[in-house]
Amino acid sequence: MTQTPLGHNPVTLLGMRVDRVTMDESLALVESYIAERKPRHILTADASMVVTAKEDADFAAIAANADLVTPDGAGILWATKRQGNPVTAKVSGVVLAERLVALSAVKGWRVFFFGAAPGVAEEARARMLAKYEGANIVGHRDGFFSADNEAEVLNEIRAAKPDILLVALGIPKQEKFIHKHKAALEVPVLIGVGGTFDVMSGTVRRAPIWMQNAGLEWLHRLAANPKKISKVAMLPQFVRMVIMEKRSPASPVG
Ligand code: UDP
Repeated sequence: MTQTPLGHNPVTLLGMRVDRVTMDESLALVESYIAERKPRHILTADASMVVTAKEDADFAAIAANADLVTPDGAGILWATKRQGNPVTAKVSGVVLAERLVALSAVKGWRVFFFGAAPGVAEEARARMLAKYEGANIVGHRDGFFSADNEAEVLNEIRAAKPDILLVALGIPKQEKFIHKHKAALEVPVLIGVGGTFDVMSGTVRRAPIWMQNAGLEWLHRLAANPKKISKVAMLPQFVRMVIMEKRSPASPVG
């Protein structure tokens, strides 16, 4: 596989880089990042993230400089196929996070759960410990804090000395948090994981497999939480943007 210094056989989707990596390749990269001990930022890109990158220049710059951007979701697979440069493997944040938790029991990696409403990361941790004996989740903290206690949050994470920090504050807050603090945190692997702890804790259920396979996970999320309408509304916006880009002769493809 050809690799560029920033990215791994990437495709460009509406100006955003997405790396063509499989789950196994992503896990191998995480292992190499932990060995190298330099802070690395991993993004899992779904349709809402690509739209956010179009609309938020600060976020787009962070995404452009990320160490790894995985293809997270049916929307990305559909759009890259439409562009004639298909990405076929999906590496979603929730699955990647759970695989890392499972591997932490084997490899001894130290994982920290940061984010979601009070009690959710704690419950997610308890459920993961019950599911994966020996999982090494060395700390948890909810994702609701003021600017005044940001320093305390950083100290708490640093003190736990994680190898992997899972940050669930939603897009783009989690990526901005990681970008701002990655040097100070001294954690080799930093990943924004959105609603992962809500799923792991059982607070929110994932869509049934048939819905996931049909690319309808967004519909399930909307039915479970109608407040997510603004996020779900990004999906038709994404589809429109992809179709329009295809029509424009000046736009770069692939
Ligand atoms: N969240 C948080 N702090 C905040 C805002 C949100 O911890 O200030 C959490 C929220 O409770 C949820 C997650 O961030 O667990 C966002 O999940 P969502 O599925 O909306 O993520 P996205 O689709 O943005 O990746």
